[in-house]
Amino acid sequence: MQNTSDVLVIGAGFAGLVAARELSRKGLSVRILEARDRIAGRTWLAPRMGRSLELGGTWVHWSQPHVWAELTRYGIGVVTAPEVEKAYWHADGQLQEGSPEELMMILDGPNRDFLAPSRQLVPLPYEPLSNPAIKEADQLTVAGKIDELELDPVSDDVMRSFWALNFNGRIDDAAYTQALRWSAAAFHEWPVMFETCATYKIQGGTRALAQAILDDSGAALTLNTPVAQVRHNDEGIIAAGRDGTEYAARAMVVTLPLHVLDTVRFEPELSAGKREAAARGQLGLGAKLWIKVKGRHERFIAMGPQGWPLNFVQAEYLDAESTTLVAFGPDAAAVDVEDAAAAQEILRRWIPDIEVLDVFGHDWVHDEYARQTWPMHRTGYLSESLPELQRPEGRIHLAGSDYANGWGGFIDGAIESGHTAARSIAEQLHIRH
Ligand SMILES: Cc1cc2nc3c(=O)[nH]c(=O)nc-3n(C[C@H](O)[C@H](O)[C@H](O)COP(=O)(O)OP(=O)(O)OC[C@H]3O[C@@H](n4cnc5c(N)ncnc54)[C@H](O)[C@@H]3O)c2cc1C
Repeated sequence: MQNTSDVLVIGAGFAGLVAARELSRKGLSVRILEARDRIAGRTWLAPRMGRSLELGGTWVHWSQPHVWAELTRYGIGVVTAPEVEKAYWHADGQLQEGSPEELMMILDGPNRDFLAPSRQLVPLPYEPLSNPAIKEADQLTVAGKIDELELDPVSDDVMRSFWALNFNGRIDDAAYTQALRWSAAAFHEWPVMFETCATYKIQGGTRALAQAILDDSGAALTLNTPVAQVRHNDEGIIAAGRDGTEYAARAMVVTLPLHVLDTVRFEPELSAGKREAAARGQLGLGAKLWIKVKGRHERFIAMGPQGWPLNFVQAEYLDAESTTLVAFGPDAAAVDVEDAAAAQEILRRWIPDIEVLDVFGHDWVHDEYARQTWPMHRTGYLSESLPELQRPEGRIHLAGSDYANGWGGFIDGAIESGHTAARSIAEQLHIRH
């Protein structure tokens, strides 16, 4: 067959790019089939509002070993966010304002109590099931564990909002173990966890790192090629694009996000466990929105109740005549990424005279190649689904931040799982170096 390589990789996000680089550096011929017209998947640096804005994954940290190693490898630095000067929080029906330290203090005690079991239950974040007791904890929900804290109404509202922010979704069915895993990966220190999530951006943007990884691999990249079907047996794989073009290989890395795993027809089918996990899905179904407002504001953060369309806002770029904010909400259906008036109405709940000039975002939940934002799991996922999703099926190896051990849900997790899939394929194909 004309389009034959040793390994096919579906998807040119961070998991696919790293797997492709690792395998091609082992001397294997690798082809990446990517549905979009660009690389980098759920990270996307796009020009708008006079600068380049990250529409998807953005922040990285040295607590994240895999992404940090990539930055070191390619000599790429990070951009530090300016210090936060002011905080607004809307809790127990009241608007409050104060220093960021005051807001952090509201969260500190509750988060320390909430996350206290992380050292015992997740002693090794990269082996998240190493303590068998995690299985029982995996049935507990974030909302239920917050109930148990019996907080005063302000702390209760702020805690629920904080975890709805972290989940980019509703917390009623959110796995408590997912919160413990984040905490464990951040050395069991929630302030490190918080800093990891929204402080240091990649110099030149996520695209710079993705491009550096691609340039460093000998992999062939075929864009605009959504894979529709994969036939596989003990000998190898045939993948067919939607246009019918076929590609053959000895093994395959599949980096489809959990919510699009069922959009490719596998023959034979993926295991029942994998299909059930995909059907059950995950909770990261929220929104990220860039908002340009008139005037130079202080560098502030604002939190609102978990039910608000945007429940977290952070002033990200301060210019002489405008300020660019980044905002998150737990429900993509409640946010129109083109509606400046709606954004202004929400922002005025914190800052009554604020004036919105422009908004910009990408609806990842209705993006047919993502259907989710960052993966945050339901109860039972860690103990019941993750081991099965990580188990190769014949020559098919899943990779992606949805299937990572450590910083699952992050760029770091995507890179980790790209390495794991590459190693597993090299072993399968008896490549020793
Ligand atoms: C709004 C948002 C904010 C985030 N913030 C952060 C953050 O600050 N820090 C952080 O570390 N992480 C963040 N993340 C998460 C991070 O971006 C992702 O976890 C990571 O980029 C996922 O990489 P991946 O390779 O696993 O998957 P993806 O990047 O989704 O790659 C999968 C690829 O497969 C392709 N594909 C899908 N279907 C097909 C098909 N049929 N055929 C061929 N190709 C297909 C897709 O187009 C995509 O390119 C955020 C994500 C979002 C959406």
